[in-house]
Amino acid sequence: MSMNYKLSALAGKIIAIDGPAGSGKSTTARLLASKIGYTFLDTGAMYRVVAWVALKKGLSVDDGESLEMISRQVEISFEMDGDINRVFLFGKEMTDEIRTPEVTKAVSPVSVHAGVRTALVKRQREMAKNGSVVAEGRDTTSVVFPDADLKIYLDASIEERARRRLLELARKGISTTFEELKREIYDRDKRDSKRENSPLTKTADAVVIDTTSLTIEAQVERIIRLIKARILNA
Ligand code: C5P
Repeated sequence: MSMNYKLSALAGKIIAIDGPAGSGKSTTARLLASKIGYTFLDTGAMYRVVAWVALKKGLSVDDGESLEMISRQVEISFEMDGDINRVFLFGKEMTDEIRTPEVTKAVSPVSVHAGVRTALVKRQREMAKNGSVVAEGRDTTSVVFPDADLKIYLDASIEERARRRLLELARKGISTTFEELKREIYDRDKRDSKRENSPLTKTADAVVIDTTSLTIEAQVERIIRLIKARILNA
């Protein structure tokens, strides 16, 4: 069987990647999607958009009812542009706005609300209805796509994840300290893993990849090998 034949057999599948903050999900999922010609679905960006709107409107992150309303009404779209996954809210670009420390702080309490999750999960499933999607987030392997064709759980030590975030923020000119980031990541992990609705979990059928000492390229390569073995039976 030729490689091309096999890759054409890959059409229409769903690959779901979950993991804690800073585990390399976004970069890995984006690169993987572009290598296999799939669409990248960044579910975290959708929760971030809702958090951004909430902050803009001066709403409390505890106001579940208003947040649910926002989640039902917002029109979120994505556009791949080279290395960047551009995010749009009602057609207006939000790529940088949703990655500020303020939004990062608000997003976890915003995403605990069941109404918010139900509305966004519905959108995520609609966006993936034709398959050929690499989705990443906290509940894509467990709740959004329980029948995904391949499930990956990416993990890394908290020190390594804080170090990555520090570099990422420094590139954007945002200065903070390693210790502060470590605490923020710890708090966010805790909230994302302990919440009642769709907590971050390792599903029994997910392949765990520890990325602490792996490069992004090595992570992507490992997933491509899993795709060949598990989906294409190569
Ligand atoms: O992955 P990212 O850091 O952009 O996710 C931001 C936040 O959105 C997470 O900390 C989590 O609170 C929430 N989230 C979620 N479910 C997802 C994706 C993200 O609750 N599927």
